[in-house]
Amino acid sequence: MKNSRNDKQEENIISPVLPTYARADFAVDHGKGVYAYDQNGNEYLDFGCGIGVNNLGFCHPDLVKALTDQATKVWHTSNIYRIPGQERLAERLAANSFADTMFFTNSGAEAVECAIKMARKYHYENDAPERFRIITFEGCFHGRTLATIAASGHEKLIKGFGPMLDGFDHLPFHRDMSKVEAAITHETAAIMIEPVMGEGGIRQVSSDNMQILRDLCDKHGILLIFDEVQCGMGRTEKLFAYQHSAISPDILCAAKGIGGGFPLGACLATEEVGRCMTAGSHGSTYGGNPMAMAVGNAVLDVMLEDGFFDQVEKMSYELRKGLMTLRNKYPKVIELVRGVGLMLGLKLKLEPAAFVAKALEHGLLLIGAADNTVRLLPPLIIEKEHITKALKKLEKICAEIEKDLPDPQTDDE
Ligand SMILES: *Cc1c(COP(=O)(O)O)cnc(C)c1O
Repeated sequence: MKNSRNDKQEENIISPVLPTYARADFAVDHGKGVYAYDQNGNEYLDFGCGIGVNNLGFCHPDLVKALTDQATKVWHTSNIYRIPGQERLAERLAANSFADTMFFTNSGAEAVECAIKMARKYHYENDAPERFRIITFEGCFHGRTLATIAASGHEKLIKGFGPMLDGFDHLPFHRDMSKVEAAITHETAAIMIEPVMGEGGIRQVSSDNMQILRDLCDKHGILLIFDEVQCGMGRTEKLFAYQHSAISPDILCAAKGIGGGFPLGACLATEEVGRCMTAGSHGSTYGGNPMAMAVGNAVLDVMLEDGFFDQVEKMSYELRKGLMTLRNKYPKVIELVRGVGLMLGLKLKLEPAAFVAKALEHGLLLIGAADNTVRLLPPLIIEKEHITKALKKLEKICAEIEKDLPDPQTDDE
């Protein structure tokens, strides 16, 4: 009796959900388009998209229809049978990217796991089993599984979870990526990088650096992996962020926006690399299930409509212009504006938590990131009126925060 549910709650031992998140005391009851609503009907402008996931906003009618239609047909069959929706989505993603083949997962971390396994298997099959190490970069985020936290190498993610999986070399996020060459050895299998870092604070790899990394990989016979879990699927006004540059990777991880809020990820590869993943070498019970495929195809239908990315580009321009104005007006609060498309960041002169909390009070959902950055990841369907509203809220937030800043003169006393 002592350990009954009620006793535990009274003693306040632990919440029934593991306390791994420091959650805001706020819940979305329902959403429509760019707006979220709490249980009391209060309206919030969503510039976070559940961390870059709801790229088409809440309850997009085409997505709702795809999911509900599929729900009455079949939810799950497992990958021991053909799944026509997978074949269709894979063909279409391939037709719109560098990829020839792909594996569907339920999450971003699983897509990265697949990429890591594939990089190792590729070299194994090509008579270079000693090539298993992957170069990653300071500030990167690749997920929360044991392999993906080892890939990140961050103290915050790995502390207490050792020993770490071997095989990752962590380099600074160089301004000049040619410095990476010094870290390449006969054991290096791949270089893995986010074309635009999300959790790391919206930091973009320049086209020049993309080219340098591609050339290094070609020169040394190693693979280039792009983690586009956050920056892919239209976020940067192209289907994939690497498409801003002249090069392409050997492997690319997608997730977040790919399912518009339904759990889905994918690991895309060239034919040359993908060939190593023979029958039985990898698997997932749920990965690429019919429900996820129905929504994934519907997301792509919307994004591939004529003019979709042009509109994202226009909105990006408007939002960025407004943010630059704010930056000039509140230099004590905002240090700089960075990012691309609708993956924008405000690097602040203070910790982002207070800014994000104040935004919530003002009915604006934002997300913090490392490097004192606040992320703006609005739905790709936003219109000018939403941007105007969001900028008004941001202006109020900046003004309040500036007012609260300690006065440097009185501080000296
Ligand atoms: C969110 C994220 C992941 C992990 O995705 P999950 O779906 O949470 O496993 C991996 N890489 C990047 C760049 C991410 O932003």
